[in-house]
Amino acid sequence: MKKILIIHTGGTFGMAPLKPSEVLAPGKFQDKITTLVPEITRIADIEVQILFNLDSSDMGIEEWEIIAAEIHKKLYQYDGFVIIHGTDTMVYTAAALSFSLINLNKPVVLTGAQRPLSKLRNDARLNLIDAVELASMNIPEVIIVFGQRILRGNRAKKISIHHFRAFHSPNYPYLGEIGVDIRIDHSKLLKSSGSPVLLNGFHAGVVVLSVQPSMDPVSFINLLDSPVLVYILEGFGAGNLPVGNQNWISFIESAVQKDKLIFIGSHSMDGGVDLTLYAGAKQALAAGAHGIGAMTIEAAYVKLQKILAQTQDKQEILQKFSENWAGEI
Ligand code: ASP
Repeated sequence: MKKILIIHTGGTFGMAPLKPSEVLAPGKFQDKITTLVPEITRIADIEVQILFNLDSSDMGIEEWEIIAAEIHKKLYQYDGFVIIHGTDTMVYTAAALSFSLINLNKPVVLTGAQRPLSKLRNDARLNLIDAVELASMNIPEVIIVFGQRILRGNRAKKISIHHFRAFHSPNYPYLGEIGVDIRIDHSKLLKSSGSPVLLNGFHAGVVVLSVQPSMDPVSFINLLDSPVLVYILEGFGAGNLPVGNQNWISFIESAVQKDKLIFIGSHSMDGGVDLTLYAGAKQALAAGAHGIGAMTIEAAYVKLQKILAQTQDKQEILQKFSENWAGEI
């Protein structure tokens, strides 16, 4: 029987039932997972570890580092890992793990729930069973298993607060789907090569600015004097920014003068940023901005944090950003 480690980090999955007037808060019964979902012990030999019990909005660099180090340390003790995680920032943690566990040779499966295990009608039980099944397969990458979808972690986006199918992968096919059978498209999976390496470190010097119509870049100009090194501007469509009265081109020029890097992403999740398509984006390109292509904003943000921890040389940052680390491009 395969050995699977379930690492609990928090989120709705394990929240305790409360009176309707109270907000959801992390509960205490996660260590009873195998008692509450005994089915999983028929799939694999299960061990459970409670690493944190946080709402995922409170997770970030520190927690990503701890989870990655824990998995790396135990890589040869288990055949696969299931991370129970809040849905809100699950895709960031998935991206962070994919950029930290280089040459991963085992499945690291993130899952969670929209309704807690403690509720009679919930998605937690099935998501956990599905995640344990996937963690016992030969999948050498970080994936999200949620709502019967199997997604590459660093390609996924949370798209619903309501639906049980909370995640989608707009620019990469699902790795598989779970119905009567588990169907996996093996041709879409990463191939493991070389021995696994833990790449430590994230640098918090990355900021994402969501550009909106009539939003004046002047309000943000002082930010360029902060220690932030890299800005991702979330623009429109193929990566367009306002260039008329609200002139984001001068913001980019000032940033470049101050030796900062500017990347441009998009509010639109389907398709890729192409700064050569429209006049405004071409100006941004000429001013020194770089498009993030079809990478999600979340993956680009985490990847740049990872890269900045290794180098602050602009050319090296751009070079590393353009390389495909874990199927994110
Ligand atoms: N706020 C919760 C979290 O992300 C939501 C969830 O788990 O679905 O921790």
